[in-house]
Amino acid sequence: MIWNEEAECMSREDKEELQLALFQKQVKTVYEKVPFYKKKFDDAGFHPDDLKTLNDVKKIPFTTKDDLRSAYPFGLFAVPEDEIIELHSTSGTTGTPVVSGYTRHDIDVWGECTGRAIWMAGGTKDSIIQNSYGYGLFTGGPGIDHGAKTTGAMVLPMSSGNTARQMKMMMDLKCDILTCTPSYALYIAESLEKAGYSPEDIPLKAGIFGAEMWTEEMRKEIETKLGLKSHNIYGLTEMMGPGVAAECDEQNGLHIQDDHFYAEIIDPDTLENLPEGETGELVLTTLTKEGMPIIRFRTKDITSLNYDSCPCGRTTIRMNRITGRSDDKLKVKGVLVFPSQIESAILQVDGVTANYLIHITRPKILDEIEVKIEISPETFSDEMRNLETLQRELEAKIHSAIGIKVDVSLVEPESLPRSEGKAVRVIDDRNLDK
Ligand code: ZN
Repeated sequence: MIWNEEAECMSREDKEELQLALFQKQVKTVYEKVPFYKKKFDDAGFHPDDLKTLNDVKKIPFTTKDDLRSAYPFGLFAVPEDEIIELHSTSGTTGTPVVSGYTRHDIDVWGECTGRAIWMAGGTKDSIIQNSYGYGLFTGGPGIDHGAKTTGAMVLPMSSGNTARQMKMMMDLKCDILTCTPSYALYIAESLEKAGYSPEDIPLKAGIFGAEMWTEEMRKEIETKLGLKSHNIYGLTEMMGPGVAAECDEQNGLHIQDDHFYAEIIDPDTLENLPEGETGELVLTTLTKEGMPIIRFRTKDITSLNYDSCPCGRTTIRMNRITGRSDDKLKVKGVLVFPSQIESAILQVDGVTANYLIHITRPKILDEIEVKIEISPETFSDEMRNLETLQRELEAKIHSAIGIKVDVSLVEPESLPRSEGKAVRVIDDRNLDK
């Protein structure tokens, strides 16, 4: 079912006309209300009147995460503080956090966008959504919550953690949709398995998973273990939170809510816009946000856009699964490596799990990569299985995926640290400042 057919099935021509009108209004507002944008536009020689077609968007300067940090906490608000009714913040683990402010209208839009995502996952007013994203300053929990309330589905505000209670509520209440990070979904799946449940016992029909990078192989593993269909969801605090884009049943890319967000793909090195379909860094503009509008934000996420219409009937443009972050890319032995490439390779091999840790060191002059991978409980208990062969198979798969040699260490099931939020997959112990 489509939650908002008018918006989600609009012709491309009508959508672009709408986007241009909203974009023009947005740049005019920020130019008048936010001194940061007035200065940024003036410095770049851009005036809101210069935006005559969507092709002119490329004349507008980018906004970066550093810009948002330097405006901490309220420097980018476009409305008086008393119109802001909700605040969220990034974790700030890598520097000053970014605070995002929402007016009542912004919260309504958020609920509309995550509501569309819930309907894309087959949600209805009868659904019971087990919302196991964290509640708090993190946008995950509250974002899904707003969508459930907008559409009339029932939401169970579980938040993450306390897995024993998650399992009990899921079984007792017969929750049909699970929302959380993919790594936590896998952890819940493993816990259910250990408690003796088989996929047929689990009432879930769909999962809406996001807030971290994951692969098709991990999707298959989650779907098999939980007996559900999984839907990728995308968002970021700087723009809104989850719901900027989400997958329908076709699982062929995430529909961007393009009546609220304008998407572009640029080359992260030259900063030029790339032609339709090419892979590069996603740049997003909030078209309707009042509290803290953001113009041409460099997300650092690497993806591509698909403008073809989807068999589901929606015409909103789709973004492909994020394959990396332009600043998470690892340069090892001079080669660019994305952790997701290593994950894909691992999951192509039977006998191991999706739990792994990439450890990079530079003992002398050369980089070394060690990948610790948990073997599956079946492999662990199978005395006949030759672990050395398995290890060599994994080393060969990863080598062919990233082009450099790695050392694989197989470790016992459940020996790597578990995460109830975003999984830590890479430890870089090189001192790269030297
Ligand atoms: Zn679709």
